Amino acid sequence: MVVGIDEVECGKGWAKLYTPLFQLCKLLNVEVLQVKEKFGGLRFYVGGVPNEQFDMVYAFIDAVEAQSYKVCEECGIRNGASREGDKTYTRVKVTTEGGWILTLCEQCRKERDDKAAEQLARRKNQDGQQEGEG
Ligand SMILES: [Zn+2]
Repeated sequence: MVVGIDEVECGKGWAKLYTPLFQLCKLLNVEVLQVKEKFGGLRFYVGGVPNEQFDMVYAFIDAVEAQSYKVCEECGIRNGASREGDKTYTRVKVTTEGGWILTLCEQCRKERDDKAAEQLARRKNQDGQQEGEG
C-alpha cells in the first residue's frame, strides 16, 4: 500500500517535517508505505529503497523522526528549542501523557485538556439530567 501526502495519519503540525521526505521519495521512486504518530514521534515507513540510496534515505528519515519529538504535532511550533539543546526540558515541555504520549506545545496541550474536561463534564451532565443539545 502506498500513501499520498494527504493520507498521513498524524497532525498537520508535522507537515514541514514529512513534506521534504515525500519529495525525496518521489525523486528516488521510493514508496511511502505509512506515515503516522507513535509514542509521540513521527514514523515514516518506506519500501523499495534502492541499495545505493539505502543509507542516505534512512539517515534522512531518522533525522526527521528525531526532530518530531521537539515539534508540536498540532500546530508545528518548535518548543523549548532555545534552551541550549536540553532534550529533557524540550521533551517535558512538549510531551503530554493522557493514556498515550503526544508531542504538543503548551497551548495545544491546554486546548486538548480543556476539550477532554469539557467532554467529561458533558457526559456527567447527561447522566444526571436528560438534556437535548443542538
Ligand atoms: Zn501546538
